[in-house]
Formats: sequence, structure tokens, C-alpha cells
Amino acid sequence: MSHQKTFEQTKVFTEMVAHKQGWALNPDSTFYRNLVEGLTLNYNRYGYFLCPCRDTEGSREIDKPAICPCVWSKVDIPEYGHCFCALYLSKEFAESMKEPRAIPDRRYENK
Ligand code: SF4
Repeated sequence: MSHQKTFEQTKVFTEMVAHKQGWALNPDSTFYRNLVEGLTLNYNRYGYFLCPCRDTEGSREIDKPAICPCVWSKVDIPEYGHCFCALYLSKEFAESMKEPRAIPDRRYENK
């Protein structure tokens, strides 16, 4: 495949997303690295940044809401303090030093 992302490129992508949205990145470096690796793998496998905590449903079209930053992150981060994967945290949540917890996956709500 011609357009492959490296770990570093994906890392920069997550930093740009966090900066643009006013979010923080998960401060647990091992956890963070695993998610960045997952995102890189998904990009190189599917051609887009499919959420590293979710499976493809078969096409970019169907997966679109689950492309990072997913549509649900905009509601999960204000509500729970972090996205489904806990890659991104609200700044308030990050400052609180609380541990992210398992939250419901909105992808299959109302389906
Ligand atoms: S849950 Fe987090 S990591 Fe997954 S797509 Fe949404 S914003 Fe990205």
C-alpha cells in the first residue's frame, strides 16, 4: 500500500486532534502507545483512522462515524471526561487524576 502511516505520524495526528478540540491525551504512556499503535494499524489496514477500540463494519462509508475522533467523543468527553477508548480526556478530567472507566459504546445505540 502506498499511503502508510508510521507510529510517529499517528502520534502527531492525535496531538493535533487534542490541541484542536481542547482535550488532553491519556497520560498513561503505555496505554497511550497501545492506542496509537492500534490507530496506525487500522489506518494501514483500512486506509482511515478507524477507532482502535472498534471493529470495521466493512466500508469507510459505514465506519465513518467511528473514524477518530469519532462522533460520539463529542458527547462522551463532556459527559464522562473521556472518549470510549480513553485516548482523549477532557482537561478537567485529566487534571482530576481520576482513572478512566468503561463507558457504554454509543455506536450501537438506537440500532
Ligand atoms: S473513542 Fe476515542 S480513540 Fe476511539 S475514535 Fe472515538 S475519539 Fe478516537
